[in-house]
Amino acid sequence: MGIWILNAQVVASGNELTKQHILVEGNVIEKIVDAAKEQPDTAGHTVIDAAGKLVTPGLIDMHVHLREPGFEHKETIATGTRSAARGGYTTIACMPNTRPVIDTVETVKYVLDKAATEGVVRVLPYGCITKNELGRELTDFDALKEAGVIGYTDDGVGVQSAQMMKDAMAKAASIGMPVIAHCEDNTLVEGAWVSEGAFSKKHGLKGIPNESEAIHVGRDVLLAEATGVHYHVCHVSTEQSVRLIRHAKQFGIKVTAEVCPHHLLLSDEDIPGMDANWKMNPPLRTPRDVQACIEGLLDGTIDIIVTDHAPHSEEEKARGVDLAPFGIVGFETAFPLLYTKFVATGQWTLQFLVEKMTSLPAQVFGLPLGTLEVGKEADIAIIDLDAEKEVNPEEFASKGRNTPFTGWKLKGWPTLTIFGGKVVWSEA
Ligand SMILES: [Zn+2]
Repeated sequence: MGIWILNAQVVASGNELTKQHILVEGNVIEKIVDAAKEQPDTAGHTVIDAAGKLVTPGLIDMHVHLREPGFEHKETIATGTRSAARGGYTTIACMPNTRPVIDTVETVKYVLDKAATEGVVRVLPYGCITKNELGRELTDFDALKEAGVIGYTDDGVGVQSAQMMKDAMAKAASIGMPVIAHCEDNTLVEGAWVSEGAFSKKHGLKGIPNESEAIHVGRDVLLAEATGVHYHVCHVSTEQSVRLIRHAKQFGIKVTAEVCPHHLLLSDEDIPGMDANWKMNPPLRTPRDVQACIEGLLDGTIDIIVTDHAPHSEEEKARGVDLAPFGIVGFETAFPLLYTKFVATGQWTLQFLVEKMTSLPAQVFGLPLGTLEVGKEADIAIIDLDAEKEVNPEEFASKGRNTPFTGWKLKGWPTLTIFGGKVVWSEA
């Protein structure tokens, strides 16, 4: 007994859709038939009528914070994966800045066990580059790889020492693993929460300069060239970083990059005031940086879209902008935001958006996922492109309500998510 998804509108190319019926048996896609030519016998199967809806591979998010272990008041693997499912995601890669951090085999196992027993989508953990993310001593890359991490990162902080980063890259390259970098030079950012720009000037605040990010990108692409590692840049937010990555790619350096929806949609000029739901790291930059990130995504300099889902409690975010932690939630608004603002407005094709959130992340990280094909894992999202709804954080499955997008009227809401052949979330 399987699941027939009938009348699925699947992206063919550009904005063109084809209508297909998809049979899921067990955890795989068993059959795909052209709806114009064949009506399947659905007897004995569960039927999901997707008429009028878009059906895509389950979305893939390579940069998320699940907060467990250690910060369960912000999010747990149970709530975080449900939030992901509600956003159409079936594979998420979690950052190791938990407490304890994911720098030992035991912690990797803890996360994988929790994900298997309490999670509803696939969780791929990253391991730390340095012990405790302190930048002083490398973790045991071999042991972490063996335990199941998919790459190394000290996300949350930049690796300050060039020698440490070079050693990390050389080691990762020798075992065929990627290094994923949060790019930030601490000496340039101390005490600031907004970027240098209109908002910081207007309010007389110290601003975070673009170089704080780009200096690490520039340093690291040179180190990647020297070591031959696959180097992946986290949450690109500045014009300078885009330029450096574009240049590195032209030189054949093995560099890939990601960008978040908020850095494509918001600039520092949009920040309404001293509101911690607009405080994230990297910060919102200038309109010129936003434009550069969009152009970088369009020309392939930036490979993929991630959310940097970073839940915090309401109490923490209410402490005022100076004391509140950095970060906003992302799973449950990412697709509707990007669909509404870029695809529905005719700037991007639907194919472009879907690939940046499915097949391309899979390709960048060598995962056998992200496509709708017979024999492949049945990870599927069903999305309503027409119904308009306001962003209401009270409806989130995440424990986090920290978003700057409250009240935005959007289309493109996921309505049902299948992971490994099972319905893990449904609107109804
Ligand atoms: Zn980061």
